[in-house]
Amino acid sequence: MPFSLYVDRDRWQEHLRAFLSKCPGVVPVIKGNGYGFGRELLAKQAAELQVPCVAVGTYDEIDSVRRAYDGDLLVLSPWRPFLDAPLADEQVIHTVSRASDLDQLAGSGARIVVEVMTSMRRHGIQRDEVTEAAARLSGLRFEGWALHLPFGPGAVPEAVELADRLRTAREAPVWASHIPPERLAELGPDARLRSGTALWLGDPGSRQVRGTVLDVHQVHRGDRFGYYQSRAPGDGYLVVITGGTMHGVALEPPRPAGSFRQRAQSVARGGLEAVGRTLSPFTIDGRKRWFAEPPHMQCSLIWLPESVSPPAVGDEVPARIRYPLATFDRVVFE
Ligand SMILES: *Cc1c(COP(=O)(O)O)cnc(C)c1O
Repeated sequence: MPFSLYVDRDRWQEHLRAFLSKCPGVVPVIKGNGYGFGRELLAKQAAELQVPCVAVGTYDEIDSVRRAYDGDLLVLSPWRPFLDAPLADEQVIHTVSRASDLDQLAGSGARIVVEVMTSMRRHGIQRDEVTEAAARLSGLRFEGWALHLPFGPGAVPEAVELADRLRTAREAPVWASHIPPERLAELGPDARLRSGTALWLGDPGSRQVRGTVLDVHQVHRGDRFGYYQSRAPGDGYLVVITGGTMHGVALEPPRPAGSFRQRAQSVARGGLEAVGRTLSPFTIDGRKRWFAEPPHMQCSLIWLPESVSPPAVGDEVPARIRYPLATFDRVVFE
C-alpha cells in the first residue's frame, strides 16, 4: 500500500561513517521533515554515531530530537526575544545574530554561538561589530562563531578570511555551513561543519522511493476520468499509484532565476504544463510517465498508452522525489 523509502542500511551507515571519519567536526542537521527520514530516525542514528552535538532548525524541534538523542542541540534559527527559548537548558546552544541580543541575554548563562554575516545576508552581526561582540560575552557560555555560506566556489575563501578575523577577535571554534568537508580544517583545527543534505542524502545509490499500484483501469480514447473529467488522449490505462501531494509528489520549490539554459527549461516545462501535460515522478517500464491529472492527496493517476504493458495491482513503482519536501508512509531498511 504505502509510499515508501527503502534504504540499504549497511550502505547508508557506511557512507555516514566515512563522512564522519573524513570530517570529525560534523554537526548533523536534523530539521524539518528530517530530510525524508523523519527527525526521530535521524536522532537515533546520530546517537548511534555518538556525535557530541546535532543541530535542529527551530526551538520547536528540540523535543522530537531529544527523545532519541541526549547530546548537545544547536538551534540554527537565531534567538529572538519573543521566542520561548530554554536559556537555562544545559543541552541547548542558541544562535545569537544581533549585537543587541547579546545585551538581552547577558548574565543568563546561556550557551551561545554568535553568527556573523556572510555574503548570504540571511542572519548575523556585521563584521565591524565582531570585536565589540567579543567583549560582551560575560555571563554567557560562548561556544564559538557561526558562518552560513552560499553555494559555490567562493564559500571557502570567504569563510577562511572571516574565520581568521573572528579567531583573532576571540579564539573559539567556527561552526560553518556549506563548506566541503575536506576543506573544513582550513577554518581551524576545532572547526565544525553543520551538514544535513551532504551527510544524510550524500549517497543516492543507498536508497529508493517506491509507490504501490492500487488500481489499473483500461480506458478508450475520449473516456472521461478524474476530478476534472478530462478525456483519455487515446486507448490506454489509468494507473492509480500511492504517492500524492501529502507525500510531496510533484511539489517543487521555486527555481532560482539562473542561466539561460535553466530559463529555457522552465519555459519548456511551462509550455507542456499549459497543454495539460506534466511528467510524473513515477517510472514504469523504464520511462517516466505523464500524470493523467494533477496528483491527488494520497495517490496519483498516471497515464499509460496502450503500447505499454501495465503493472499489476500491488506492484511497486520507482519514483523520484525532492527529499526536503517528502513525507513517506514508511522508511524500510533492507
Ligand atoms: C539547514 C541549514 C544547514 C544544513 O543545510 P544542508 O544544505 O542540508 O546541509 C546548515 N546551516 C544552516 C544555518 C541551516 O539553516
